Amino acid sequence: MLDRVKIVLVGTSHAGNIGSAARAMKVMGLSNLVLVDPQCERDGQTTALAAGASDVAMNAEIVDTVEQAVADCSLVIGTSARSRTLDWPMVEPRECGEKLVQALANKDSEGSVAVVFGRERTGLTNDELQKCQYHLTIPANPEYSSLNLAMAVQTVSYEIRMAYLAMEQSQYAPAQQTEYPRYEQLEQFYSHLEKVLYDTHFIEKDKPQKVMDKLRRLFTRARPESQELNILRGVLTAIEKTNNLK
Ligand code: SAH
Repeated sequence: MLDRVKIVLVGTSHAGNIGSAARAMKVMGLSNLVLVDPQCERDGQTTALAAGASDVAMNAEIVDTVEQAVADCSLVIGTSARSRTLDWPMVEPRECGEKLVQALANKDSEGSVAVVFGRERTGLTNDELQKCQYHLTIPANPEYSSLNLAMAVQTVSYEIRMAYLAMEQSQYAPAQQTEYPRYEQLEQFYSHLEKVLYDTHFIEKDKPQKVMDKLRRLFTRARPESQELNILRGVLTAIEKTNNLK
């Protein structure tokens, strides 16, 4: 699914940034890099900074315009260090990841989605930004808000991965669902525990509630699974047996 996420770099002028961006993508499982009208050749700097991700940098598709890069995309998000230069729907990185993954998960869409990044010095033009459905600004320090290009790619790629992992987890959740005890079973456990604590004189008759309240709070926080509760019941029974408490 992540193969259908395009990272589009427009007018990049530092060869090293292409390598760093490729690395930022690959560690997050992204591989589809598109260069729009790059202002440099990919060179030794590119491969040096790409480290093990030079395949992503070298396999990048090169096109002339943003339009060409995103032609097959059902969702296009443009990034800008300056927020609200245009009055456009805005998203933050987390929501951006979620929107992209939702668009990919949509059964009706076979196409790709894209995040578009601008030139190192001047960013994206208004015209390019207007080709995007949403604008994303990483909410950085307002007095120093411009990230290095590859670091902006890293931040966004991370959120895409997080949204992807969350979706994967929720998809598989029903198969590996944990069984939790019902209220009634928990109450039986608390009664059993209370009885053993009395019988072993851990709690005294005069102020039983304080300890039991604290223990209830502890078990509520831990939220034991059915199997774990069975183990706890077994422990109590073993204590009863060895102390002839039954
Ligand atoms: N002066 C330019 C800065 C460009 S930084 C501008 O105002 O846009 C190069 C690219 O990195 C940007 O075009 C954008 O794609 C990305 N970038 C840098 N900082 C960002 C931020 N805070 N939020 C979103 N994207 C950012």
